[in-house]
Amino acid sequence: MNKTNHPSEEVSYLAIGVGPSNLSLAALASKHDNLNITFLEKKKQFSWHEGSLLPFSNMQSSHIRDLVTLADPTNKFSFISYLHSTKKLYHFMAAEFSNIPRFEFNNYYKWAAEQLPGMHFDEWVNEVQYEEGNFRVHTSKRIILAKNLILGIGSIPYFPEHAVLDIDRHAYHGTEYCKKNKETFRNKKVVVVGGGQTGAEVFFDLFTNKTALPKELTWISRRSLFNPMEESPFHTEIFTPYFSECFYSLDLDSKEKLLAQHKLASDGVSSDILQNIYKELYFNKYQHKEKLPPNLLINTDVVKQELNGDSFKLYIQNKVTNSTDQLDADIIIYCTGLDYKLPEFLNPIKPMLTFEKSGIDTHKDFSAKLPSGIKNKIYIQNGSTSSWGVSDRNLVLGAWRSAKIINSMLGFNAYDMESENTFVTWK
Ligand SMILES: Cc1cc2nc3c(=O)[nH]c(=O)nc-3n(C[C@H](O)[C@H](O)[C@H](O)COP(=O)(O)OP(=O)(O)OC[C@H]3O[C@@H](n4cnc5c(N)ncnc54)[C@H](O)[C@@H]3O)c2cc1C
Repeated sequence: MNKTNHPSEEVSYLAIGVGPSNLSLAALASKHDNLNITFLEKKKQFSWHEGSLLPFSNMQSSHIRDLVTLADPTNKFSFISYLHSTKKLYHFMAAEFSNIPRFEFNNYYKWAAEQLPGMHFDEWVNEVQYEEGNFRVHTSKRIILAKNLILGIGSIPYFPEHAVLDIDRHAYHGTEYCKKNKETFRNKKVVVVGGGQTGAEVFFDLFTNKTALPKELTWISRRSLFNPMEESPFHTEIFTPYFSECFYSLDLDSKEKLLAQHKLASDGVSSDILQNIYKELYFNKYQHKEKLPPNLLINTDVVKQELNGDSFKLYIQNKVTNSTDQLDADIIIYCTGLDYKLPEFLNPIKPMLTFEKSGIDTHKDFSAKLPSGIKNKIYIQNGSTSSWGVSDRNLVLGAWRSAKIINSMLGFNAYDMESENTFVTWK
């Protein structure tokens, strides 16, 4: 810990957060000797959404959308290169996964993080100030003066307004689910709120829990069905650089309309897990008949959560009939998604940034729009959905975004940014 107010280091580029976004930047930057980037990550070691990493969890995107391939297929930090160097390429090929197991991507990311230069784990950023042409970054260990920043801090769990977090009494976010002891669910009334991918995975895990089955299990979605992710080739065109550039050029109103229309291309449930859930419902009803059928509630809003002795009362409303009802719950798991929020450590520089409804307003090189006259840059990874569309908060165009940032840092196009067009005409 630096007890004085003097910076212990001066750097050109400081990247905050080491998730897949900044890992992609590190992997692509590793080919450019003149680019030195310091990376800070608060976790002790790399891990990717470990609280949601169930044994059966699969990726919702292709392995080609790894850290580097879509920007530079020759980079040694590709997923295929990982499989090759860990001697599992033939097994992987023979397994013919239709969706890649998520644990394997987590291992791939770890493998890359262990080899990439400039990584500092177990060090978190407490405050960023701006003075005299530098960012003064206070971390848990030191003060660093940085000319430019790259924010790759991800999103935080989102809770609906009515939700009252109560970790001891068991009302928590789905991203914490895997950290819980399975025994806590035995004979309990468990309610899963949220009809997206995490909700589906948590529900399936609870329903197939062989050791500590809940007494009652309810899965609630406000959507009109447990909707699958839209995965047609035409939807895949939304996740292309060409579409992102088109989206960038639209006015704000059109962007917000498109973001709403594209929700299920990003937030729907993978078809394989929906099929597995349905099959399990079938087996449960007609074969093993071991457990009570679960309550599957769609078109349902949870409007209020109340403490009721040692458990909770949930007030729900059907959006079609407007009828209301109550549910008892010992455990509530909110699988209500993630949200981009400016973290408190950026409060001192907040007035320098401009915001749109869904994130920070950025230039075409993914740097935040700062007041005129400021030469420093703050590159935004995964924090400007308003500017770039739904792909920005997913992994899918991470390599392309990092390549654009590197081109901007270098001042020339080290990466070819001329993109294939799409078959669809967007505007
Ligand atoms: C369970 C789950 C599965 C997903 N699967 C897919 C998928 O299959 N395909 C897809 O396209 N998208 C997927 N996504 C969406 C998205 O791609 C991921 O959320 C991805 O992790 C985003 O990467 P990131 O690096 O931007 O953020 P994160 O992975 O959230 O990483 C941010 C990092 O910043 C660190 N950090 C934050 N604050 C500080 C600080 N003050 N100081 C230091 N470090 C800090 C955090 O500890 C974290 O490690 C998934 C999301 C979830 C939640």
